[in-house]
Amino acid sequence: MFDKILIANRGEIACRVIQTARAMGVRTVAVYSDADTNALHVVQADEAVRLGPAPVAESYLRGDLIVQAALETGAQAIHPGYGFLSENPDFVEAVEAAGLVFIGPSAKAIRAMGLKDAAKALMTKAGVPVVPGYHGDNQDAAFLAQQAGQIGYPVLIKAVAGGGGKGMRLVEAAPNFLENLASAQAEARTAFGNADVLIEKYITSPRHIEVQVFGDGTDAVHLFERDCSLQRRHQKVIEEAPAPGMTDEVRAAMGKAAVTAAKAIGYAGAGTIEFIVDGSNGLRTDGFWFMEMNTRLQVEHPVTEAITGVDLVAWQLRVAAGESLPAHQDDLAINGHAFEARLYAEDVPAGFLPATGVIDHLAFPGTARIDSGVGPGSEISPWYDPMIAKVTVHGPDRATALRSLSAALDATQVAGTVTNLGFLRLLSRDRGFVAGEVDTGLIAREEAALCAAPKPDARAVAVAAVVAAQFGSDPLAGFTLWGPLERDILLAYDGSDIAARLTVHGAGNVAVTVGDEDVSLLRHGDHWGTPAIRHGRHVTVFGAETVTFDIVDPLDRAGDAMGGDTVLAPMPGLVRDVAVQVGQSVVEGDRMVVLEAMKMEHVLRAPRDGVVGAVSVATGDQVTAGALMVALEE
Ligand code: ADP
Ligand code: ADP
Ligand code: MG
Repeated sequence: MFDKILIANRGEIACRVIQTARAMGVRTVAVYSDADTNALHVVQADEAVRLGPAPVAESYLRGDLIVQAALETGAQAIHPGYGFLSENPDFVEAVEAAGLVFIGPSAKAIRAMGLKDAAKALMTKAGVPVVPGYHGDNQDAAFLAQQAGQIGYPVLIKAVAGGGGKGMRLVEAAPNFLENLASAQAEARTAFGNADVLIEKYITSPRHIEVQVFGDGTDAVHLFERDCSLQRRHQKVIEEAPAPGMTDEVRAAMGKAAVTAAKAIGYAGAGTIEFIVDGSNGLRTDGFWFMEMNTRLQVEHPVTEAITGVDLVAWQLRVAAGESLPAHQDDLAINGHAFEARLYAEDVPAGFLPATGVIDHLAFPGTARIDSGVGPGSEISPWYDPMIAKVTVHGPDRATALRSLSAALDATQVAGTVTNLGFLRLLSRDRGFVAGEVDTGLIAREEAALCAAPKPDARAVAVAAVVAAQFGSDPLAGFTLWGPLERDILLAYDGSDIAARLTVHGAGNVAVTVGDEDVSLLRHGDHWGTPAIRHGRHVTVFGAETVTFDIVDPLDRAGDAMGGDTVLAPMPGLVRDVAVQVGQSVVEGDRMVVLEAMKMEHVLRAPRDGVVGAVSVATGDQVTAGALMVALEE
């Protein structure tokens, strides 16, 4: 076994590899960019080496610097994680040329599977079923259109160098073919520097089922399947293992095809054979086709680990260190069911826009496996993938595991950035998904219902108001001997103000009026029945939905609302002093009215230079929020 390895990646996957390496007594070297100086993977590794500035082309894609870092720190092997350089055969060769071990397949195996057309040709030769289509060299538009007609619509145009759903177009009928071809080619040229495409039959009611394989260069086994059909725009959202509705017969056929594929290229390490499956009529031995091979550890590998008990990273290290396969096919069995949900910093109602922010608060339930590369205080920067965590659960059967996923998502708390948590929660309760009726179109069909922005109810507002008022830990805060204490709190959500009036009936007993609803809240220990935290000038309530409110300082708001001509009461209160008279000249910032509210004196000042035109309050007056107190002449 190696004494020390370098991990050429960041985020959750780097942390994941460090964890297993540490358990195996292997020391770890992290690499990082300037945006990641304080990132978790850097903190967790035994050593860390700076690569360069934040952009990936100057840091995580600098294979030369990574090899140099390994040599300088005495690491014997490099784990590539996924993404970045993990499927780059030139990097593998550079690693090996430096006398280091690449923890993964050979450059040759990666090249064999690198282009979708060549991979399909190879698989056809090996006897693995491949989606019917044209995978040849002729890229003439008229010829491809004619091929599409022969295959029969609908067809899928795919960039041969494609990945991440890019360069892919569904064409429903012949008249749309040429236009879609041109846009797929253009996208492929920009994204991959290779405009070549292939045409294949579009499988209706498609399911994405993939098989985890593992090889040692000679022999290979499979670790069963994962169903990754819950996708949005060809990106996986929730994965599970095993696949719903899978039969022993189809599993054996898919497993055999996957192992055949791996052996055909002398595969070493962890890999995934992705199949597209016709889900229209149950799973059949003649209803699955090879789509592509991912020659690396996959994001969703935890579901496979959960049902097999195998640590795939440990296997990667052992095989890379020269051991043969750690298990025979007969040693492997499925235990129960597992789900993984990908928690991202993204703005779902805005169309799943990647979000950024500093994580002010992050909490997960103890019932789930959490793979994460961030913690409280971490920044989700615009430079890299905005993944916050993978939440993986395991249960004895699918229904139990899925309930456990819902519960785990309900108990997950993130504040400081918007996330897709609400979307994942709704998805985990989706009727079709719960019934195991999954296909790659499920999310798109139900997108409107799954993506609605949360609408905070009166209770969420009430809890936010109490937390904003900080009736938190001091048991006597807000307690008064001579009657209920009232206090107004102004919150803002989604561009609108929400006013809440708190009436304190005693320690830990507050009535909150929100609009025409009254909510009674009792404090239980350190919470008010619904978890919530205050972070800076925000309160996040972790109720049925996670809602973040801004705490509006009425004084700031009053300043904005004055419009330059008036001084309004920012909150209800008692006028303590009026310092100006009609006709008096004032300069911006002059003291005009002193208002006592919330047991404090607030000095309200002239919004600009001018002459006082009207004074509508006198000392001793009680005013309501928004009342006009002083107006300047136009
Ligand atoms: P990428 O390299 O972008 O991952 P894939 O070839 O793996 O591309 O396809 C991505 C997704 O597109 C699949 O998971 C599936 O949802 C859909 N897809 C691919 N091929 C087909 C097909 N022939 N019929 C229907 N859907 C397909
Ligand atoms: P400010 O200008 O007061 O700093 P921002 O709106 O920029 O306020 O947000 C500050 C912090 O609050 C950031 O960390 C941001 O990510 C977080 N934040 C803002 N809106 C939300 C929201 N809807 N949900 C969760 N966190 C939020
Ligand atoms: Mg794929």
